[in-house]
Amino acid sequence: MTAERELRQLVARAGQVLAALGLVDYLGHASARVPGTDRVVVKPKHSPTVRSTAGLGPERMIIVDLDGRLLEGGPGGTDRPPAEVFIHTEIYRARPDVGCVVHTHQRSATLAGVLGLPIEPVLHVPATFLDRTPPTWPNPVLVDTPELGRALAGALGGERFCHLQGHGIVSVGEGVREATVGAAMLEQLAEAALTAASTGTRPRVISPHEIATLRGQVAGVEGRWAYFCQLAGIEEAA
Ligand SMILES: [Zn+2]
Repeated sequence: MTAERELRQLVARAGQVLAALGLVDYLGHASARVPGTDRVVVKPKHSPTVRSTAGLGPERMIIVDLDGRLLEGGPGGTDRPPAEVFIHTEIYRARPDVGCVVHTHQRSATLAGVLGLPIEPVLHVPATFLDRTPPTWPNPVLVDTPELGRALAGALGGERFCHLQGHGIVSVGEGVREATVGAAMLEQLAEAALTAASTGTRPRVISPHEIATLRGQVAGVEGRWAYFCQLAGIEEAA
């Protein structure tokens, strides 16, 4: 399988996983950069025929360049890039280390961003995904221009996650599995942060030293990706 074909499949599966976890509906999108190129595989803009990401297979993914211009529009060539394609393209420009960008409006992480509530490493498995509480980009508008995409990429900096305050989050990673599982891990920690805040009790935060130990103990993303694929009804998780 070519890299691009494999990435079409992975990006489609990311959408299916995110939908199964309730992190996206018809909005929200994952993308992947085809290594060594300026080509980006991304979910198309929603339309009467592009509905829940749960129902979109690899053949429905589209290809854009780093200016967000459509290169391949899917079957019939009629699908269009998401309005917020610049979230993806400008992060790829700013971060050569990033191969996948996931953007969601996932409820708990978004609400934590609205409240300015720190998302902290309080649960042992997802803690391994969090180096620091995610930075916040205080802007709820659609990221529908390259300028806004650059501003968001600047707020993200070298981090794994960023709040789009009042809007959603981005999760980035070297690969599709990492960025997608990362979004799920962030949501678990955000749920914990919100619940802890409602009790008024300060949670016990896992220390950087303990996180380093945990990183050597817990499995990588592959097992969690396979589990989430199973939840999404995907037969072959490889
Ligand atoms: Zn959005």
